[in-house]
Amino acid sequence: MITLFQCCYKPFLPLRKTFLLSPSQWPIPLHRHKISTATTRYAVNGPRVRFRSFGSTRQSQPSINDERSKTAGGGGGESNKNNSNSNINKSSSSELWLYNTMSKQKEVFRPKVAGKVGMYVCGVTAYDLSHIGHARVYVCFDVLYRYLRHLGYEVNYVRNFTDVDDKIIARARELGEDPISLSRRYCEEFRRDMVYLNCLSPSVEPRVSEHMPQIIDMIKQILDNGCAYNIDGDVYFSVDKFSDYGQLSGRKLEDNRAGERVAVDSRKKNPADFALWKSAKEGEPFWESPWGPGRPGWHIECSAMSAAYLGYLFDIHGGGMDLIFPHHENEIAQSCAACKKSNVSYWIHNGFVTIDSEKMSKSLGNFFTIRQVIDLYHPLALRLFLIGTHYRSPINYSDVLLEKASDRVFYIYQTLHDCEEVLSHHNEEDRKDSIPPAVFSCISKFNEEVLLSMLDDLHTPVSISALSEPLKTINDLLHTRQGKKQELRIESLAALEKAIKNVLAILGLMPTSYSEVLQQLMEKALKRAKLTEDQVLQKIEERTSARMSKEYEKSDSIRKELAAVGIALMDSPDGTSWRPAVPLSMQEQQISAA
Ligand SMILES: [Zn+2]
Repeated sequence: MITLFQCCYKPFLPLRKTFLLSPSQWPIPLHRHKISTATTRYAVNGPRVRFRSFGSTRQSQPSINDERSKTAGGGGGESNKNNSNSNINKSSSSELWLYNTMSKQKEVFRPKVAGKVGMYVCGVTAYDLSHIGHARVYVCFDVLYRYLRHLGYEVNYVRNFTDVDDKIIARARELGEDPISLSRRYCEEFRRDMVYLNCLSPSVEPRVSEHMPQIIDMIKQILDNGCAYNIDGDVYFSVDKFSDYGQLSGRKLEDNRAGERVAVDSRKKNPADFALWKSAKEGEPFWESPWGPGRPGWHIECSAMSAAYLGYLFDIHGGGMDLIFPHHENEIAQSCAACKKSNVSYWIHNGFVTIDSEKMSKSLGNFFTIRQVIDLYHPLALRLFLIGTHYRSPINYSDVLLEKASDRVFYIYQTLHDCEEVLSHHNEEDRKDSIPPAVFSCISKFNEEVLLSMLDDLHTPVSISALSEPLKTINDLLHTRQGKKQELRIESLAALEKAIKNVLAILGLMPTSYSEVLQQLMEKALKRAKLTEDQVLQKIEERTSARMSKEYEKSDSIRKELAAVGIALMDSPDGTSWRPAVPLSMQEQQISAA
């Protein structure tokens, strides 16, 4: 297992537009990467050389195929078998490679229209609070969205809300509420979760209930093209009419028949046929249609809404791996049946979330909503945890990992807070335009590692690991005797901070205020420890008195008592302060697991 969240203790100091799509326009050259500019304005102190560009990949630089990259979760068995790492080696380091579920290999990303990206991600069915599986999907695609924008693309990001569905109707019945108003309420709750997790808003968030004309038009088109049939107001898609059915999932129609578990509607021509339109049942919401009153089946909404906002040809369609079959398979069939030229260039899917290595499920009682998790852990710690594993690998949720992620974000923000504090005492205009070679090399290496890892199918774990070195360098400059005497110290701190902030912004980990997040992280730690700050301060006082009267056993036991619940004490000439830490018992678990 990769060590992403190292324990790093240090003294705590107080603190809609649719654009025209034409497949004939690709391939096109890629944009210049903005990340390369991060080091350009500095000259190296010593040999006064100005570096104008990011520089080519040197032999000594870490390779995207090195061990860290592999252990960081290269995407699981199938992807590793088919990966195109050899191609990456041959290509320049400026191309983004993404794993395409359709081709089952990594491919160079080339949008259909130069400079523009159309991306559709299947949204939530809004009938309850979202769980951490949802958090993973939308954080993963938020990183992709942010990275594409960082590379200079104009991204039209569409993420739908399913507000008409069996589950919504069932829940509304339980609560005696109108289904549309119930789902509206949960759409807002979902949006709140996305804000907590620092996910950017998509360009458009269409809802099924507001797109009935487009859905009905598409069903009409599929019927006109002879790929669906109507039985008593229920319209079914005829899978036998689409010869490529199963292309995305690799499943054959025979497998579907053999695996049929639910009661099959005997009126269907093929048990694998699926509903495009369901006739209205007593007490259910319905819309008028050429086939009588009813509502759409689940799959058709994404075909209709993606076509409405992105056209039939667009670049990226994404979601969780559980959507590959039947949802995305059916979407492809519907879209192609409605319009032959339909094409999505890249199908991207993220891996599952397991809880303590077991599948998350309500019946097993190991089901966590985002709200439950962020009640005890900071949302940015949850985000760091979610992107600390490659997006295609399964991710195992556990309190230990969340504690480690919390510890890591505390370290990152405390370091940047301290750095900002020192920089605030120095005028920017007084700074020289140069930094020492060692700092320059640290920043260059960092930028290059991030660039290579992100271009390689968004290897966020490697980018997160890469933060360690510049953060350590900042801490050395801030707190060690040698660092404090370092020539061009302020210039170095400013350059290091800038480079780290650029990367945190790409990863969606850049807060508006370091001190605010540090305060919130401390509050969450107190909540987990079931202590108030006053109680901790009281313990510190008791310990100080014990030390003054040379009762070292007592003072030690107070320190251990607090460390056991995740409160670490720090002694300095100015007194004792505290900061959150991984509880001792969990640190031991970590050691035994290693
Ligand atoms: Zn969908």
